Order: sequence, then structure tokens, then C-alpha cells
Amino acid sequence: MKFGGTSVASHDAVMSLVGIVKRLREKRPVLVVSAVSGVTEALLALPRATEKELGKQIAAIRKTHLKLVQELFKDKRARAEVMDYVDEQLKKVRTLSRKENVFPKDKDELVSYGEVMSSFMISRVLRSHKIAAEQIVATHMIVTDDAFTQAEFLPNETRKKTRDILYPLIEQKVVPVITGFIGATEDGRVTTLGRGGSDYSASIIGHCLDSDEVQIWTDVDGVFTADPRVVKNAVLIPEISYKEASEMASFGAKVLHPRTIKPAIEKKIPIRVVNTFNTECPGTLISSHHTGVGLKAIAFKRNVILINIYSNAMLFSRGFLARVFGIFAQQHISIDLVSVSEVSISVTLDNSGQLDSAIEQLKEFSTVSVYRDGFGVVSLIGEKILSRPGLMSDVFSLFQKNRVHLQMISMGASDINVSLVIPSPDIVLAVTLIHNHFLGADNAPENATRLKE
Ligand code: ADP
Ligand code: ASP
Ligand code: MG
Repeated sequence: MKFGGTSVASHDAVMSLVGIVKRLREKRPVLVVSAVSGVTEALLALPRATEKELGKQIAAIRKTHLKLVQELFKDKRARAEVMDYVDEQLKKVRTLSRKENVFPKDKDELVSYGEVMSSFMISRVLRSHKIAAEQIVATHMIVTDDAFTQAEFLPNETRKKTRDILYPLIEQKVVPVITGFIGATEDGRVTTLGRGGSDYSASIIGHCLDSDEVQIWTDVDGVFTADPRVVKNAVLIPEISYKEASEMASFGAKVLHPRTIKPAIEKKIPIRVVNTFNTECPGTLISSHHTGVGLKAIAFKRNVILINIYSNAMLFSRGFLARVFGIFAQQHISIDLVSVSEVSISVTLDNSGQLDSAIEQLKEFSTVSVYRDGFGVVSLIGEKILSRPGLMSDVFSLFQKNRVHLQMISMGASDINVSLVIPSPDIVLAVTLIHNHFLGADNAPENATRLKE
């Protein structure tokens, strides 16, 4: 059971967490928690602060925890125990933030303290409600490669450690409260799994323990037909396939970290997305069940990097694409979308990797234009999405009527995703237009239920 940042950020949220754990106790829950909402962001800002600002900013992080601790514990000794622990971690945070050069590995260690503090606090809250609980810092459990800030877990090593640590606790009916988001290399250097990575931690641990279910407790009722904070009449989707959920996450739906699905698929473990603030709602079940064909949801990214590569040498030549993609691979740049013509290739990327050196190499044999901002991507997602006749012609005419410029289009052979690159200022308009035309009001997919008023 993974509880996200907002699910551990207020008295009411944490009381709901305690209630959920109590109710499901017989199922022997294992908890994964995020840092308290806002703390990851605050920690990441510290290395940029001046000495004077640093003190203030660390004091603000302390205050966030203190306020919660005062609300959560009546007992003075319990309060002091948690705050002593928080202060100990913040000392390490201060030392790291003052380093002359902050490398990605330092950043990972620095930001890891957010989850370290929240997991300790939650373990002590559970104890104060007479639930035996133990904090586990995942650096002893989740073994990863050394791709700092975006690390990948090593399954065999992680499985062994996870079982060795967790099985004895589970057997003794102790609830483990594990830090999300973080792991460590084999030689013990702290790593993180990418922003939003606590979801991934939960599915890694579910995978290693052969859990019955992975539950993602968050601040919305489940997976919706579009981000409910952006599209007001978005509709809750009760059931969705692994493939569709994975595609939504990869194309911007923040409700799940993009890598969450893979460990679950391998063991056929269902994932349930549920609301800490509305526990009556059954949420969304993500599984291998077939849930019908056609458009299910719209996802979007506000900003992507768009690169156009032109070359006459491409005409009738062999190996041009291989050469271009070889350069991206060499520089550890992962490509999201691709569109190709006789003389040009357009690609979008999320994360810039070593973009500058890639561009330089590409320029040796082609003309390259790079748009680092200005464009976003809207993705239409659903199994056999093109089975609906006229889907794309409706999209084109909506865009034409509303003067939305379409820069690039990418349709995968898997027929589950159509992605449209459009100017960033038009992203929300485009999402709303497409959502309301196909999924809004009376057009929702059959198994979707409307968001409560
Ligand atoms: P947590 O801190 O619990 O991990 P996140 O903020 O990472 O929570 O993810 C939950 C948020 O994801 C929601 O508040 C919502 O705004 C956003 N979101 C984006 N797309 C969707 C979608 N299709 N369905 C539900 N939520 C979505
Ligand atoms: N705390 C981390 C983040 O904000 C991980 C997570 O919340 O999933 O990115
Ligand atoms: Mg999240």
C-alpha cells in the first residue's frame, strides 16, 4: 500500500491511513510512503540557496514536520522522538546542501531524506495507535544501478533483500513502513527512481513479495479519462488494462509513475488506484482484464523537447535512421515520439540527457532545429483506438475550428496511442476539446462512471 505525498501531509490524511491499515490488517499490509507533500521540492531547492536562505529553508522543512507531529501525537515523548529524528536528518541535509559541487549522486542522497523522515513519522503514528510497525529505509533493500536520479532496480538482488527483511516482520504481524522513491547501488550509494518514483517502489516490492495487490493511495478517486484537476468533467475509469495505464503514465498522467506497471505485469499483480480522502470509492483496477476497445483517456505533457533533423542525404540512402538513433542512444537520450519523411526526422524527448553533444554530432551531416520549449504533447489512449471510424478526422476538424496548430503526429503500430505535438499554450484547450468531444457528457466509455458533483 503506497501513500503519496498528500496522503501523509495532514492530520486527516494520516488518520485515514491509520484506519485503512487497521481495516486491512488481516491481509498483512506492507506500506510504502512518499515524502510529505512539498518536501521533495524544498529539498531539491537547497543547493541553490545562499547560506542565509539555507537556514530559513531548512527551518521551513522542519516546521512542516513539526506542525504535523503536533497534530498527530498527544504524547510528548513520542513527539520528541520523531522531532529528534527529523533534526538528525536535517543536519545531514544541511551538510550536503553546503557542498561546493552538488553532483546527481549528492542530489539523490539529499532528496532521500524526505522519505526517510516521513516513513519514521508514519511508523511512530501507527505505533501510537497500537499497531506494531517498523520503519525500513529502502537503501538496504532496493538495489539499483548507478543511474542517479533515474535509477533502475536490479531484480535478483532486490528480491532477496526484500524477502529477507520483510518476511520476518510480516510473520510477526509488524507493519513495515518503507521509504518510497529511493534505493542504493550495490556498494551502498543512495539513488532515486525518478520523480514520482514511490509508485514504482511499491510495485517493485509487490513484485518481490508476490503480493495479492498493489494499492496506490492518492488524492483523487482513481484513474480518470483526463487529469481531473484540468478537465472538470473528467470521468472515473473503474477498470483499465495494464497496457492502457502504462501508456497513460508514459504520456503524462501523473497519477502513476511510468515504470510502475512493468513489475506488476510480470507477476500479474493487479494495481488499484484509490483515494485516501474518499475510502468508500472502489477506485480504479489496473489488470490484464480486457476492458473494451476504443478511446479511453487523454494524457498530456505541457513541455517536451522537439528536434527536427533535415538532410538531403536521407533521400534513397540506407542506414540514415540508424545513424541518427545511434547518436541518441550513445548519449543516453531516450526518444518518445518519432515521425519520418523522405528528407526529415522529427523526434520528441522528455529528458535532455547529453543533448548538446548529440546535436553537435547530428550537425555534422544534417540541419538540426531544436525547440527546448514551446511544444507539448496530447495523447489519445485506448486499445484499438483507431477502430472508431473518423476519430482522426474529428480531431482535425476540432483543431481547425479552434485554430489549434498541429506540429507533428505520431501513431504507434500497437494501435493504443495517437500523439499530437502542438504549441504549449494550446495544450489545455486541445485536451479539453478532445475530451469533451469524445469522452465528456454523454460520450464517456461504457465502463466509466461520472465524477461526483
Ligand atoms: P501522489 O502524491 O499521491 O503520488 P500525484 O500528485 O503524484 O499524487 O498524482 C495524483 C495526481 O495525478 C492527481 O491529483 C491528478 O491531478 C493527477 N492526474 C493526472 N492525470 C490523471 C488521470 N488521468 N487520472 C487521475 N489523476 C490524474
Ligand atoms: N517524493 C518523491 C517526489 O516528489 C517521490 C514520490 O512522491 O513518489 O517525486
Ligand atoms: Mg505521485
